[in-house]
Amino acid sequence: MINSVHVPLRFYFILLYFRIVIGSMQTRDFDVVVIGSGIAGMTTALHAELESSEKLSIALISKIHAMRSHSVAAEGGISGVLYPVENKDSEHLHAYDTIKGSDYLADQDAVEILVKNAPKEIKFFEHLGVPWNRNRDGHINERAFGGMSVNRTAFAADKTGFFMMRALYDELTSHKGIEIFHEHMVTSLIVEKGKFLGLHMIDIATGESTFIRSGACVIATGGFSRIYDFTTTSYSSTGDGIALAYRAGLPLKDIEFVQFHPTALVPSGILITEAARGEGAYLINAEGKRFMETYAKSKMELAPRDIVSRAIVTEIEKGRGFSDRLSGLGYVHLDLRHLDQKLIDERLPMIRDISRKMLGLDPATEPLPVRPAAHFTMGGIHTNTAGNIMLGAGSGHAEGLWAVGECACVSVHGSNRLGSNSLSQCSVWGRIVGIAVARHVAHNKAGKSKIAEDKAWQEERRIEEMLSGKGSEDPYALYTELQNTMSKHLYVYRNTKGMARARKDLSRIRSRFADIYIKDKRRTYNANLRDALEIGSMVELGLLVAECALRRRESRGAHAVREYPERDDKHWLKHTIIQKGIAGCRISYMPVSITKWKPQPRVY
Ligand SMILES: Cc1cc2nc3c(=O)[nH]c(=O)nc-3n(C[C@H](O)[C@H](O)[C@H](O)COP(=O)(O)OP(=O)(O)OC[C@H]3O[C@@H](n4cnc5c(N)ncnc54)[C@H](O)[C@@H]3O)c2cc1C
Repeated sequence: MINSVHVPLRFYFILLYFRIVIGSMQTRDFDVVVIGSGIAGMTTALHAELESSEKLSIALISKIHAMRSHSVAAEGGISGVLYPVENKDSEHLHAYDTIKGSDYLADQDAVEILVKNAPKEIKFFEHLGVPWNRNRDGHINERAFGGMSVNRTAFAADKTGFFMMRALYDELTSHKGIEIFHEHMVTSLIVEKGKFLGLHMIDIATGESTFIRSGACVIATGGFSRIYDFTTTSYSSTGDGIALAYRAGLPLKDIEFVQFHPTALVPSGILITEAARGEGAYLINAEGKRFMETYAKSKMELAPRDIVSRAIVTEIEKGRGFSDRLSGLGYVHLDLRHLDQKLIDERLPMIRDISRKMLGLDPATEPLPVRPAAHFTMGGIHTNTAGNIMLGAGSGHAEGLWAVGECACVSVHGSNRLGSNSLSQCSVWGRIVGIAVARHVAHNKAGKSKIAEDKAWQEERRIEEMLSGKGSEDPYALYTELQNTMSKHLYVYRNTKGMARARKDLSRIRSRFADIYIKDKRRTYNANLRDALEIGSMVELGLLVAECALRRRESRGAHAVREYPERDDKHWLKHTIIQKGIAGCRISYMPVSITKWKPQPRVY
């Protein structure tokens, strides 16, 4: 009894001491806060602004300059049925392709929303100024993409993400209600009894902390493929927002499904867009054979990514690949030599440029060395089809919290995403959530909260303790161990022993992370601190991937387990939900939404 009185008192004095002696933290109030300024975050902020007729105060936060967000790297295009008659296409067919591509784990009600709204979003971006490639008749050109039955991917050369980001950024900066915080890193979400109250963030340049008080938050922080060393994603794809949600007690869904893109350049991992195969490039093994004939006779190089990635790894394992002299990595050839040079320059200029600069190879005259690299994370924060963050499997949703884009699992991609469906997901749910959040705050204004303020101060103290800590573990060394473990045991093919080993090793890495040492002790431009925070998130997520992967005893989409080579709908046609428990994590499962498309064998 005495203790229970004294502990809060002692805690109060520590906080008071901390505020007086060490801390400085400003408080800012916003109606809405959007974390992340990729295509998902910027689209959400813009629609919230438009829906509210510019009456809201919106904070848009990005840990790097907004325009450097990973989305600028998107290359090949955005899916949507623009010309159903000319292309013999339909929303139904787009939905079917997506669901079959997902290996039937996608929620079909969510997919129906995606395909219905995607064309509108492509036209919306047209009005914002994206220079879509066009046919001679003026129609927007659509190209072939893996797993799609017809051409339905709109594109702006092979720089689609850059043009979409540029258009969004230009538009946003002309709206006064939106304040952009470049290079500000969110380190914690303040959620009390399922309700969002605010967040803590650090200005990377000055090191100053801010407590943002708000009743509405949209997480749009992207994926976490950087847990692997061979990846196509940018350095910022470290899964912070997903880890923040997990730490705040919010559930994650289907986190075991990581997509490996078949064609990343060896040894850098830079992406050669699927659009190259969409435009007709071949995959060739060391015997000079178009080996996809063995794995997907009708779709060949344009089979979905999980299938093409497994085919490449199998070819390499069977000794029919090449080996990179310096890195030792196995690879196959991506061959564009038979394509018209004019077509390459018009539709794939960036990959020609990248190949020349990175490898001194011109794809118009030489084949490119490629192998599968971590590219996209299908799993993420568990949301419903309205983008609300849920409180658990079969529970209601949190108040004032949404997730959009790659960090969210709504789930339209299931266990394997089809290329070009991510940009449509970001745009479609950017609008849905932007409008919802604006309507929500019109009726729910956040008030002052002592709990929230105290929690922000607690977070400030945690950061200070991280900085001043005298631990013995080097966070960068732990990061290398994490990446090695993920690449060794949780790559394209997985096996039970390897996943169990990974779980054990990752659990140790996570324990050791509690004892890290941060070299740079200053607050200004402290890249060590920023990296340590990111590594902390990735260490957490790597372990969760292993936890969920180990339990799923089947092969579905990107999760291919040697001992269980078949999909098992009887036992595993369900989503994995993982949530922080009092001691460790809690795993549960929930049904997949099936509307029109009964699961069938997946043959291409
Ligand atoms: C090379 C490449 C090419 C691709 N091409 C295509 C394509 O052609 N078509 C397609 O559909 N998909 C493509 N994808 C996938 C697609 O690009 C991504 O899924 C999509 O861009 C993700 O957008 P996002 O807005 O969700 O996140 P991101 O663009 O990753 O943005 C995340 C944002 O969150 C911010 N952030 C993260 N953590 C914090 C924090 N702690 N504090 C503050 N801010 C934070 C970041 O600064 C950033 O602003 C490609 C992927 C790769 C790797």
